[in-house]
Amino acid sequence: MGRGVQGITVYSTRFGDLVKVTIVGRGLAGAWLAHELTSRGVAVRIFDNGHHDTASRVAAGLINPTTGTRPRSAWRSDVLMAHVRTAYANLEKSTGVKALVERKIRRVFRTPDDERLWRIATERGVGVEWQAIGQHTVDGVPMPYGGVEYDGAVVDTNATLMALEAVDGITVEEREVETIELEDSDAVVWCTGWQAANHELWKWLPWQPVKGEIIDAQISGPALTGVYLRGIWVIPATGSAPSKGMQNVRIGSTHTWDDLNAGPTKEARESLVETASILLDRDMVVTAHRAAVRPAMRSKRPVIGRHPACPEHIILNGLGTRGALWAPWAATQLVNHLLDGAPLDPEVNIHRWWGSDV
Ligand SMILES: Cc1cc2nc3c(=O)[nH]c(=O)nc-3n(C[C@H](O)[C@H](O)[C@H](O)COP(=O)(O)OP(=O)(O)OC[C@H]3O[C@@H](n4cnc5c(N)ncnc54)[C@H](O)[C@@H]3O)c2cc1C
Repeated sequence: MGRGVQGITVYSTRFGDLVKVTIVGRGLAGAWLAHELTSRGVAVRIFDNGHHDTASRVAAGLINPTTGTRPRSAWRSDVLMAHVRTAYANLEKSTGVKALVERKIRRVFRTPDDERLWRIATERGVGVEWQAIGQHTVDGVPMPYGGVEYDGAVVDTNATLMALEAVDGITVEEREVETIELEDSDAVVWCTGWQAANHELWKWLPWQPVKGEIIDAQISGPALTGVYLRGIWVIPATGSAPSKGMQNVRIGSTHTWDDLNAGPTKEARESLVETASILLDRDMVVTAHRAAVRPAMRSKRPVIGRHPACPEHIILNGLGTRGALWAPWAATQLVNHLLDGAPLDPEVNIHRWWGSDV
């Protein structure tokens, strides 16, 4: 029996008995979901429109367990950090690809007040083991007001997408999907990133997509041995050792809410170069500049679950600025929910928004 929902027709439904699932969109969300489903014996078909400048392809993949200029522990960071490390260790075991690299994160204080804010944060419980850095240079980076360092990680998102494709062996069908007929699937999971904000099924959710720009650059001088944070971040590129005195780094990123469609801009590039040059105290040569839109929500949480009125349609989205950290965990949440009936974390459950004035 078919059911029409604003142009979408669903023909087959077997709740609690998912045998075949269609996934639309293969960024980090779709790829980790496909991995979880196939590892639980569910047959998966994936469609993706093949766009190049997607959030998952552009992202720097930084995993920072703290957040904010008034620092605090990132949401569920203890659970999520453990989950992401296990997920990537398992991926490495089955593919030999090391897509997650542990990195020291060095937060460079901008003013003497930053030290006070950090102390307050630690009294509240910032959720990381940290060491103070005195007022000196580290890797040639001046720290006139000192700083702190703690453990974080960087994920190579493109390597992740390739490794998951290799291990799952699913050929992605290149197609823009707007409506879908589920003649041979039990459900469709929409992992379409920020574009879901414009889709008939999902536009009622509290979207707040954010464009970001990022540059790749070569720097001379002492090699960076960690990630440096001060308003922006500078990340030593994974997998490339400094050569001829030059080191590849990624620098980002910007946040723009009112200009979601344009590509890289001169203003963002100049601003990133200027801020990074001051932070690192050296010149740089820009080698690449890209832009993409993050699928962020006003709740600053993922959004997961079955559409309340059309439960054959499911969403895994809202990874915002933290897809590298959240994607494996969010995929596990959804799969445990669909296959085992495990409750979704209430903060990510799509049902919290249904009927609310979002
Ligand atoms: C500049 C920048 C820097 C970032 N840095 C970091 C970082 O350091 N750390 C971090 O954790 N996160 C970072 N992020 C965020 C991270 O990239 C996202 O959270 C994550 O990639 C979102 O993944 P996704 O799969 O939900 O969406 P996407 O990556 O957008 O994937 C959606 C996929 O669906 C496809 N699609 C969309 N609509 C359709 C359709 N109708 N039919 C078929 N296919 C469709 C798209 O082409 C795409 O392939 C950054 C993002 C940006 C833009």
